Amino acid sequence: MKVSELGEFGLIDLLDKMIADAQINKASPDLLIGIGDDTAAWKCTEQVQLATVDTMVQDIHFTLETISWEELGWKSLAINISDIAAMGGLPHYALVALALPDNTESEDIAGLYRGMIDIARQYKVAIAGGNISRASRVSVTVTVLGGCPDNKILRRSTAKSGDTIAVTGYAGSAAAGLEMLKKKLAFRSKITGYLKNAFLHPVPRIEEGRLLVKHGITTAIDTSDGLLADLRHICEASGVGAKVITDLIPVNEIVKASFKQKALELALGGGEDYELLFTGNARNIAKIRQVIKCPVTVIGEIVKSTPGKIELFDAGGNPVKTGRTGWTHF
Ligand SMILES: [Mg+2]
Repeated sequence: MKVSELGEFGLIDLLDKMIADAQINKASPDLLIGIGDDTAAWKCTEQVQLATVDTMVQDIHFTLETISWEELGWKSLAINISDIAAMGGLPHYALVALALPDNTESEDIAGLYRGMIDIARQYKVAIAGGNISRASRVSVTVTVLGGCPDNKILRRSTAKSGDTIAVTGYAGSAAAGLEMLKKKLAFRSKITGYLKNAFLHPVPRIEEGRLLVKHGITTAIDTSDGLLADLRHICEASGVGAKVITDLIPVNEIVKASFKQKALELALGGGEDYELLFTGNARNIAKIRQVIKCPVTVIGEIVKSTPGKIELFDAGGNPVKTGRTGWTHF
């Protein structure tokens, strides 16, 4: 059935029922009122509160040819949870605003909510409210509210010269996935699966963000714009520069094998990995590497320099510059 036949209230009833049946909001005892009143209501503790919002617009951020409705639901909530991770916090509540064309199938919207409920359950996020409006293309706007249990926040503005720079997971896998989908590149199914997942099914680093806070880290960002762009955000906010050893950047073997020379370019410039890029003293980072469950790789150092200036070197200390064919050794 099209959403125009079901009507706004019919669709709201359907989504309410999905959330009620999934019982995800039961994990949030402080939520007094979820969906069904004029606003959501919850009891708030003294702790520092976090709020973030992000929109995914059809044909700007996604195309329905390459993403399933379930994946769209997962990703639109995941990217907001990732921002909470980058602050060292825990996500609590989500508000979802959908804009939909009249001819959207209600079963597709149910799929979108299945994806959203799936990640909400995993991260103990209550879906506390939302809005639906008519539009010429699909857009999904998600607000996530969270908190910092120990009142310590990870910021972009506290990097100091001498800090070690490190990143969780792999860089460039999501961009490689996008490249594969856009150019319809054909790989073996195991490779296709990895690349698709990296782009369409990001896994926010909440647990890792909490671990950084506990180990004295104060500076972090999630890599949504790309490793270099996000490092530049840290450097500009902190009034420092950075030196990065490109040979150290963690590129997954699958991306290296499938994209050859282009792999480094994808790792440096490609966005949407939603990993944590952070800086801190080398001893703290060494301790974190011992206890964290995911790979953590040291890629360089914060230096006194023009704010936001990033210099790239290879393992031999030779400068690396960008050329017409991507990133090349100089
Ligand atoms: Mg962010």
